[in-house]
Amino acid sequence: MPHFYFEPTVTLLARPSFTMPVHLPVNWIGESTDGERLAEFAGRVCYMSQHNPAKRATRDYLDNIKKQGHGSVLEHANYTLLLEGVSRSLTHELVRHRAGFAYSQLSQRYVDESDANFVVPPAVIGDTSLEAAWREQIEQAQRAYVALVEKLMERYGWIPDRVHRRKMSREAARAVLPNATETKIVVTANARAWRTMLELRASEGAELEIRRAAIAMLRLLQCEAPGFFSDFEIYEADDRRDAARVIYHKV
Ligand SMILES: Cc1cc2nc3c(=O)[nH]c(=O)nc-3n(C[C@H](O)[C@H](O)[C@H](O)COP(=O)(O)OP(=O)(O)OC[C@H]3O[C@@H](n4cnc5c(N)ncnc54)[C@H](O)[C@@H]3O)c2cc1C
Repeated sequence: MPHFYFEPTVTLLARPSFTMPVHLPVNWIGESTDGERLAEFAGRVCYMSQHNPAKRATRDYLDNIKKQGHGSVLEHANYTLLLEGVSRSLTHELVRHRAGFAYSQLSQRYVDESDANFVVPPAVIGDTSLEAAWREQIEQAQRAYVALVEKLMERYGWIPDRVHRRKMSREAARAVLPNATETKIVVTANARAWRTMLELRASEGAELEIRRAAIAMLRLLQCEAPGFFSDFEIYEADDRRDAARVIYHKV
Protein backbone atom coordinates (compact mmCIF):
# COMPACT_ATOMS: atom_id res chain seq x y z
CA MET A 1 0.00 0.00 0.00
CA PRO A 2 1.37 3.45 -0.83
CA HIS A 3 1.86 6.06 1.83
CA PHE A 4 -0.40 9.10 1.50
CA TYR A 5 1.05 12.48 2.44
CA PHE A 6 -1.15 15.13 4.03
CA GLU A 7 1.56 17.76 4.36
CA PRO A 8 5.11 18.39 3.18
CA THR A 9 8.32 17.92 5.13
CA VAL A 10 10.79 20.78 4.83
CA THR A 11 14.36 20.31 6.08
CA LEU A 12 17.11 22.89 6.11
CA LEU A 13 20.23 21.38 4.50
CA ALA A 14 22.58 24.35 4.29
CA ARG A 15 23.01 27.93 5.41
CA PRO A 16 25.77 30.51 4.86
CA SER A 17 28.96 30.48 6.88
CA PHE A 18 30.56 33.91 7.19
CA THR A 19 34.13 34.74 8.14
CA MET A 20 34.76 38.42 8.74
CA PRO A 21 38.04 39.65 7.24
CA VAL A 22 40.24 41.03 10.02
CA HIS A 23 41.21 44.07 7.98
CA LEU A 24 37.59 45.21 7.51
CA PRO A 25 35.88 44.68 10.87
CA VAL A 26 32.22 45.65 11.15
CA ASN A 27 30.73 47.23 14.23
CA TRP A 28 27.90 44.69 14.57
CA ILE A 29 24.90 45.57 16.68
CA GLY A 30 22.15 43.20 17.79
CA GLU A 31 21.41 39.55 17.22
CA SER A 32 22.13 38.04 13.80
CA THR A 33 23.10 34.92 11.91
CA ASP A 34 25.98 34.31 9.49
CA GLY A 35 23.73 34.78 6.46
CA GLU A 36 22.44 38.12 7.70
CA ARG A 37 25.96 39.31 8.59
CA LEU A 38 27.22 38.27 5.16
CA ALA A 39 24.56 40.45 3.51
CA GLU A 40 25.26 43.36 5.87
CA PHE A 41 28.99 43.06 5.24
CA ALA A 42 28.40 43.09 1.47
CA GLY A 43 26.10 46.10 1.74
CA ARG A 44 28.55 48.03 3.90
CA VAL A 45 31.41 47.48 1.45
CA CYS A 46 29.45 49.60 -1.07
CA TYR A 47 29.85 52.72 1.14
CA MET A 48 32.75 51.50 3.32
CA SER A 49 30.52 52.05 6.34
CA GLN A 50 31.87 49.21 8.50
CA HIS A 51 32.00 51.58 11.51
CA ASN A 52 28.17 51.63 11.40
CA PRO A 53 27.64 55.42 11.63
CA ALA A 54 23.83 55.12 11.98
CA LYS A 55 24.31 52.60 14.85
CA ARG A 56 21.91 50.16 13.16
CA ALA A 57 21.38 46.63 14.38
CA THR A 58 21.90 44.04 11.64
CA ARG A 59 18.17 43.30 11.28
CA ASP A 60 17.31 47.02 11.13
CA TYR A 61 20.04 47.47 8.52
CA LEU A 62 18.54 44.66 6.42
CA ASP A 63 15.06 46.10 6.90
CA ASN A 64 16.29 49.36 5.46
CA ILE A 65 17.92 47.50 2.54
CA LYS A 66 14.54 45.89 1.73
CA LYS A 67 12.73 49.21 2.13
CA GLN A 68 15.17 50.94 -0.23
CA GLY A 69 14.84 48.07 -2.75
CA HIS A 70 18.55 47.18 -2.74
CA GLY A 71 17.71 43.51 -3.20
CA SER A 72 21.03 42.55 -4.77
CA VAL A 73 22.66 42.65 -1.33
CA LEU A 74 20.37 39.78 -0.27
CA GLU A 75 21.69 37.61 -3.11
CA HIS A 76 24.86 36.73 -1.16
CA ALA A 77 23.04 34.53 1.35
CA ASN A 78 21.98 31.10 0.05
CA TYR A 79 19.78 28.59 1.88
CA THR A 80 19.21 25.00 0.78
CA LEU A 81 16.00 23.16 1.66
CA LEU A 82 14.97 19.55 1.10
CA LEU A 83 11.28 19.15 0.25
CA GLU A 84 9.64 15.75 0.70
CA GLY A 85 6.01 14.73 0.64
CA VAL A 86 5.33 17.11 -2.24
CA SER A 87 3.70 16.21 -5.54
CA ARG A 88 5.10 16.34 -9.05
CA SER A 89 2.55 19.04 -9.84
CA LEU A 90 3.95 21.17 -7.02
CA THR A 91 7.51 20.83 -8.27
CA HIS A 92 6.37 21.54 -11.82
CA GLU A 93 5.20 24.95 -10.56
CA LEU A 94 8.17 25.49 -8.24
CA VAL A 95 10.84 25.04 -10.92
CA ARG A 96 9.35 27.92 -12.91
CA HIS A 97 11.23 30.15 -10.45
CA ARG A 98 14.54 30.46 -12.24
CA ALA A 99 16.58 33.49 -11.17
CA GLY A 100 18.81 32.59 -8.21
CA PHE A 101 17.48 29.02 -7.85
CA ALA A 102 19.10 25.58 -8.19
CA TYR A 103 17.16 22.30 -8.16
CA SER A 104 17.86 18.57 -7.96
CA GLN A 105 14.81 16.31 -8.13
CA LEU A 106 14.21 12.57 -7.89
CA SER A 107 14.33 11.06 -11.38
CA GLN A 108 11.36 8.97 -12.48
CA ARG A 109 13.52 7.52 -15.26
CA TYR A 110 16.00 5.98 -12.82
CA VAL A 111 13.94 5.40 -9.69
CA ASP A 112 11.36 2.61 -9.67
CA GLU A 113 7.95 4.13 -8.89
CA SER A 114 6.23 0.75 -8.28
CA ASP A 115 6.21 1.67 -4.58
CA ALA A 116 5.67 5.39 -5.07
CA ASN A 117 3.80 7.41 -2.49
CA PHE A 118 1.21 10.09 -3.18
CA VAL A 119 0.17 13.51 -1.94
CA VAL A 120 -3.49 14.04 -1.12
CA PRO A 121 -4.65 17.36 -2.65
CA PRO A 122 -5.48 19.76 0.22
CA ALA A 123 -8.99 20.39 -1.13
CA VAL A 124 -9.78 16.67 -0.92
CA ILE A 125 -8.56 16.16 2.66
CA GLY A 126 -11.30 15.66 5.22
CA ASP A 127 -14.08 14.44 2.90
CA THR A 128 -14.20 10.65 3.28
CA SER A 129 -15.98 9.84 0.05
CA LEU A 130 -13.85 12.23 -2.03
CA GLU A 131 -10.68 10.79 -0.47
CA ALA A 132 -11.84 7.22 -1.19
CA ALA A 133 -12.65 8.03 -4.84
CA TRP A 134 -9.31 9.78 -5.23
CA ARG A 135 -7.39 6.84 -3.68
CA GLU A 136 -9.09 4.35 -5.96
CA GLN A 137 -7.88 6.26 -9.04
CA ILE A 138 -4.37 6.54 -7.61
CA GLU A 139 -4.11 2.83 -6.83
CA GLN A 140 -5.39 1.96 -10.29
CA ALA A 141 -2.77 4.21 -11.88
CA GLN A 142 -0.03 2.59 -9.82
CA ARG A 143 -1.16 -0.89 -10.88
CA ALA A 144 -1.10 0.26 -14.51
CA TYR A 145 2.45 1.57 -14.02
CA VAL A 146 3.70 -1.72 -12.58
CA ALA A 147 2.10 -3.71 -15.42
CA LEU A 148 3.52 -1.39 -18.06
CA VAL A 149 7.07 -1.61 -16.67
CA GLU A 150 6.83 -5.39 -16.69
CA LYS A 151 5.57 -5.54 -20.30
CA LEU A 152 8.11 -3.00 -21.53
CA MET A 153 10.97 -4.94 -19.88
CA GLU A 154 9.79 -8.00 -21.84
CA ARG A 155 9.29 -6.06 -25.06
CA TYR A 156 12.84 -4.71 -24.94
CA GLY A 157 14.39 -7.92 -23.60
CA TRP A 158 16.75 -7.94 -26.60
CA ILE A 159 18.60 -4.87 -25.25
CA PRO A 160 21.63 -6.27 -23.42
CA ASP A 161 22.16 -3.38 -20.97
CA ARG A 162 19.61 -4.00 -18.19
CA VAL A 163 20.02 -0.48 -16.74
CA HIS A 164 19.21 1.04 -20.13
CA ARG A 165 16.22 -1.29 -20.55
CA ARG A 166 14.87 -0.39 -17.11
CA LYS A 167 15.28 3.33 -17.85
CA MET A 168 13.40 2.94 -21.15
CA SER A 169 10.59 1.06 -19.40
CA ARG A 170 10.25 3.43 -16.47
CA GLU A 171 10.40 6.60 -18.56
CA ALA A 172 7.53 5.33 -20.71
CA ALA A 173 5.46 3.83 -17.87
CA ARG A 174 5.61 7.02 -15.79
CA ALA A 175 3.23 8.56 -18.31
CA VAL A 176 0.38 6.88 -16.43
CA LEU A 177 1.46 8.10 -12.99
CA PRO A 178 -0.65 10.94 -11.62
CA ASN A 179 0.46 14.49 -10.82
CA ALA A 180 -0.05 13.57 -7.16
CA THR A 181 2.97 11.20 -7.18
CA GLU A 182 5.23 12.11 -4.30
CA THR A 183 8.67 13.47 -5.10
CA LYS A 184 11.72 14.85 -3.36
CA ILE A 185 13.58 17.95 -4.41
CA VAL A 186 16.59 19.85 -3.11
CA VAL A 187 16.18 23.59 -3.61
CA THR A 188 18.90 26.17 -3.19
CA ALA A 189 18.18 29.86 -3.54
CA ASN A 190 19.50 33.16 -2.33
CA ALA A 191 17.43 35.24 0.07
CA ARG A 192 16.24 37.60 -2.66
CA ALA A 193 15.04 34.71 -4.84
CA TRP A 194 13.34 33.00 -1.88
CA ARG A 195 11.48 36.24 -1.16
CA THR A 196 10.22 36.57 -4.73
CA MET A 197 9.04 32.95 -4.88
CA LEU A 198 7.44 33.03 -1.41
CA GLU A 199 5.58 36.24 -2.20
CA LEU A 200 3.97 34.58 -5.23
CA ARG A 201 3.42 31.08 -3.88
CA ALA A 202 2.33 31.85 -0.31
CA SER A 203 -0.31 34.30 -1.52
CA GLU A 204 -4.03 33.60 -1.71
CA GLY A 205 -3.90 33.26 -5.50
CA ALA A 206 -1.48 30.32 -5.41
CA GLU A 207 -2.51 26.67 -5.79
CA LEU A 208 -3.28 25.17 -2.38
CA GLU A 209 -0.52 22.58 -2.15
CA ILE A 210 2.32 24.90 -3.18
CA ARG A 211 0.82 27.59 -0.95
CA ARG A 212 0.90 25.20 2.04
CA ALA A 213 4.52 24.28 1.23
CA ALA A 214 5.47 27.94 0.76
CA ILE A 215 4.07 28.73 4.21
CA ALA A 216 6.10 25.85 5.70
CA MET A 217 9.26 27.09 3.94
CA LEU A 218 8.55 30.66 5.04
CA ARG A 219 8.13 29.61 8.70
CA LEU A 220 11.46 27.78 8.60
CA LEU A 221 13.29 30.65 6.88
CA GLN A 222 11.76 33.24 9.22
CA CYS A 223 13.27 31.36 12.19
CA GLU A 224 16.54 30.84 10.36
CA ALA A 225 17.11 34.44 9.20
CA PRO A 226 14.50 36.96 10.45
CA GLY A 227 16.42 39.83 8.85
CA PHE A 228 15.49 38.51 5.40
CA PHE A 229 11.95 37.28 6.00
CA SER A 230 10.40 39.05 9.02
CA ASP A 231 8.35 41.43 6.85
CA PHE A 232 6.19 38.48 5.68
CA GLU A 233 2.96 38.23 7.64
CA ILE A 234 1.21 34.86 7.82
CA TYR A 235 -2.55 35.10 8.28
CA GLU A 236 -5.64 32.96 7.86
CA ALA A 237 -7.36 33.85 4.59
CA ASP A 238 -11.10 33.81 3.85
CA ASP A 239 -10.75 30.23 2.56
CA ARG A 240 -9.62 29.30 6.14
CA ARG A 241 -6.14 28.39 4.99
CA ASP A 242 -2.86 30.12 5.77
CA ALA A 243 -1.54 32.66 3.32
CA ALA A 244 1.20 35.28 3.56
CA ARG A 245 1.65 38.88 2.44
CA VAL A 246 4.82 40.91 2.39
CA ILE A 247 5.52 44.52 3.30
CA TYR A 248 8.47 45.13 0.99
CA HIS A 249 7.25 43.88 -2.37
CA LYS A 250 9.81 42.23 -4.76
CA VAL A 251 13.01 44.01 -3.73
C1 LIG B 1 -0.76 32.09 -9.13
C2 LIG B 1 0.11 31.73 -10.29
C3 LIG B 1 -0.45 31.20 -11.43
C4 LIG B 1 0.35 30.84 -12.54
N1 LIG B 1 -0.22 30.34 -13.67
C5 LIG B 1 0.53 30.00 -14.73
C6 LIG B 1 -0.03 29.45 -15.92
O1 LIG B 1 -1.22 29.27 -16.04
N2 LIG B 1 0.81 29.12 -16.94
C7 LIG B 1 2.16 29.31 -16.86
O2 LIG B 1 2.88 29.01 -17.82
N3 LIG B 1 2.71 29.82 -15.76
C8 LIG B 1 1.96 30.17 -14.69
N4 LIG B 1 2.55 30.67 -13.56
C9 LIG B 1 4.01 30.79 -13.52
C10 LIG B 1 4.48 32.23 -13.79
O3 LIG B 1 4.14 32.62 -15.11
C11 LIG B 1 6.00 32.33 -13.60
O4 LIG B 1 6.64 31.46 -14.52
C12 LIG B 1 6.44 31.96 -12.21
O5 LIG B 1 5.62 32.59 -11.25
C13 LIG B 1 7.89 32.37 -12.01
O6 LIG B 1 7.93 33.78 -11.99
P1 LIG B 1 9.16 34.61 -12.49
O7 LIG B 1 9.44 34.32 -13.91
O8 LIG B 1 8.87 36.02 -12.08
O9 LIG B 1 10.27 33.97 -11.51
P2 LIG B 1 11.84 33.86 -11.68
O10 LIG B 1 12.21 33.01 -12.79
O11 LIG B 1 12.31 33.41 -10.32
O12 LIG B 1 12.32 35.30 -11.95
C14 LIG B 1 12.33 36.30 -10.95
C15 LIG B 1 12.42 37.65 -11.63
O13 LIG B 1 13.68 37.74 -12.31
C16 LIG B 1 13.49 38.40 -13.56
N5 LIG B 1 13.76 37.47 -14.66
C17 LIG B 1 13.92 36.11 -14.57
N6 LIG B 1 14.19 35.58 -15.76
C18 LIG B 1 14.16 36.60 -16.64
C19 LIG B 1 14.33 36.65 -18.04
N7 LIG B 1 14.59 35.59 -18.77
N8 LIG B 1 14.23 37.87 -18.63
C20 LIG B 1 13.97 38.97 -17.92
N9 LIG B 1 13.80 39.00 -16.58
C21 LIG B 1 13.89 37.82 -15.95
C22 LIG B 1 12.04 38.90 -13.59
O14 LIG B 1 11.97 40.17 -12.99
C23 LIG B 1 11.36 37.90 -12.69
O15 LIG B 1 10.14 38.35 -12.13
C24 LIG B 1 1.75 31.03 -12.46
C25 LIG B 1 2.31 31.57 -11.30
C26 LIG B 1 1.53 31.91 -10.20
C27 LIG B 1 2.18 32.47 -8.97
